[in-house]
Amino acid sequence: MKRLMIVVPCFNEQEVFETTLTELSNLLFDLIKKEKIAKNSGIMFVDDGSRDDTRRLICDAYKKYSHVYAVNLAGNVGHQNALVAGLEAAADLCDVTVTIDADLQDDISVIEEMIDKFNAGCDVVYGVRSNRKTDGFFKRTTATAFYKLMKWLGAKTVDNHADFRLLSTRAVKALLQYEERNLFLRGIVTRLGYKSACVYYSRQKRMAGTTKYPFRKMLSFAVEGITSFSVKPLKMIMALGLFIILCSLLAILYVLVSFFGGNADAGWPSLMISIWFLGGVQLFSIGLVGEYIGKIYLETKKRPRYNIEEILSHNEE
Ligand code: UDP
Ligand code: MG
Repeated sequence: MKRLMIVVPCFNEQEVFETTLTELSNLLFDLIKKEKIAKNSGIMFVDDGSRDDTRRLICDAYKKYSHVYAVNLAGNVGHQNALVAGLEAAADLCDVTVTIDADLQDDISVIEEMIDKFNAGCDVVYGVRSNRKTDGFFKRTTATAFYKLMKWLGAKTVDNHADFRLLSTRAVKALLQYEERNLFLRGIVTRLGYKSACVYYSRQKRMAGTTKYPFRKMLSFAVEGITSFSVKPLKMIMALGLFIILCSLLAILYVLVSFFGGNADAGWPSLMISIWFLGGVQLFSIGLVGEYIGKIYLETKKRPRYNIEEILSHNEE
């Protein structure tokens, strides 16, 4: 039987921790009883530098239960890096991992189905939301637009799949070979090439606490995702530049015609418009190029993605 490790990134999750621990533990024991996973399977919490009581709660749980493991990071490094930290630590201990958010918005009952698919030979199983009813209008529309854009830009992602997924240890090890600092896991996992499958569920509302993804973080996550996977925006700048050059040729033609036709009035408004418009386009384009250069800068430094303060593990017999 295969040993499962459920990896749970936590950042300021004191409100939900106890419930999450109970529910995941029950699920784990249930799967063990059904002989779907090995007896020494466990839950690995990754404390992503929480500023509230989360770390203490995790440590208490670790002392109390032999199935609880923990990776305590030295500071807050963000959801994606926290996931990698957890996966890396778990890969040495187990045969298969499932990653899930600490607020259990994702339906844990499909984990059993994930394990079945894994036992049937899949290395990657995506948890896919069958609908977005629990999201507000804003999150729903922006998320849908984002997935469409990603697809158009040529990144391979699974629609409506977040970071609720099963990965075999083999897949985790492959994933760890992607050394980029700018991590966008859901774009990389689709590139691993191993056999994959999907399980479907409907997502619940966050049971307590507030989202750790405010609009600012969501936006930077989206920009990260796009610029990590596609250079199309850079090419679009060139196309846009060409297009504007053509337009300005037309404008020049127009100005010449009206000048020689004796009508000089249309002068200043068209001038203002073109200056502002062009200025805007230039600033935007420089910013976009800068985004990529910034990425190159960060990647060349090869900084570690996270620093581990301690790993809480149990003696292996
Ligand atoms: N998270 C993290 N580090 C961060 C932000 C979030 O580890 O800097 C974790 C958080 O504890 C949760 C998961 O990432 O387990 C997803 O966050 P959240 O549920 O707030 O996002 P949402 O569901 O609103 O997109
Ligand atoms: Mg959530």
